[in-house]
Amino acid sequence: MERNLRKNFLDAIYGNPVDRVHALSVTQTGTVELMDITGAAWPEAHSNPEKMAALALAGHEVANLEAIRYPYCLTVLAEIMGCDVRMGTKDIQPSVLSHPFSKGPENLNVPEKLLEKGRIPAVLKATEILVDRTGKGTQSEIPLIAGMEGPLTVFTHITEVKNCLIWALKKPDCFNTFMETCTELCIEYANSLFDHGADALSMPDGGLVGSRMMPPSVLEDSIKPFYKCLCKKVNGPLILHICGDVGNSLGSLSECGFEAISIEEKVSMEAAKEAIGNRARLIGNISPSKTLLFGTPEAVKAEAKQCLSAGVDILAPGCGIAPRTPLANIRALVEARDEWYEEKD
Ligand SMILES: [Zn+2]
Repeated sequence: MERNLRKNFLDAIYGNPVDRVHALSVTQTGTVELMDITGAAWPEAHSNPEKMAALALAGHEVANLEAIRYPYCLTVLAEIMGCDVRMGTKDIQPSVLSHPFSKGPENLNVPEKLLEKGRIPAVLKATEILVDRTGKGTQSEIPLIAGMEGPLTVFTHITEVKNCLIWALKKPDCFNTFMETCTELCIEYANSLFDHGADALSMPDGGLVGSRMMPPSVLEDSIKPFYKCLCKKVNGPLILHICGDVGNSLGSLSECGFEAISIEEKVSMEAAKEAIGNRARLIGNISPSKTLLFGTPEAVKAEAKQCLSAGVDILAPGCGIAPRTPLANIRALVEARDEWYEEKD
């Protein structure tokens, strides 16, 4: 019998029992091979809803991942807040070029008519197209995971990391003003994605938290309260993705209300499980560069099976899939999961 992937995914994310661990990517999935197969390439796929949807769909239909993940950048909200964005190339992601609030929070607001601004209409339209094409309401429905910047990512984009850090240490009121507006911005956008049919949101947001530059007290006093507010006000499951070695902060992050936390291979799965207990599900953590980009399908399978044996709740790359990652290596995720269950029986 065909598994209902959407139901299986939602069970996994809420911590209900599943008969097979889900295998997917909660981080970006656009690769050059998939762009060539679909004719939907970067940079157009960052702003053209049909191309955005076509490339995302290929992550499931061609690369066999058990969810559809879109878009492919972390600049949608930064652009709306006034950052100049370089749209990149076929194999380079968009990046932020300017930081309009580097002097302070003067004139900082959530824009009016936010949902009509920048590339938000394109992402919402892509969501609608994907809802249509993924059999929602049928037995073969596929989960839709929309990626978006979290409040701290927006904050560092509009102010630049060094300013964000200085304020964290020396001007907590200023830091909190930014966090408050960025959180409000994220909540409005997040809920519009759910309204249009996304099943979960993936929020890469912890570059700074995982960098060890930020003292634990800042996480406790100036980030956690906003994360809690975000999780409370967003109308669907939230996945927090943290880049870097976030080991020491995992316990604290798991108390914010995120349904799941996605971790890199730098964090040991066993230690992560220990740190978060059953407060959130763990997603990860196959190395996106060493193994997925430069390794073989056999190497991917070996690492995937280690994750499964360590008790991962959802099997996934530890960070965004590099655009030059071979298709065979992405396909090896689901293959590894299936082999792992066969070997176990
Ligand atoms: Zn990452």
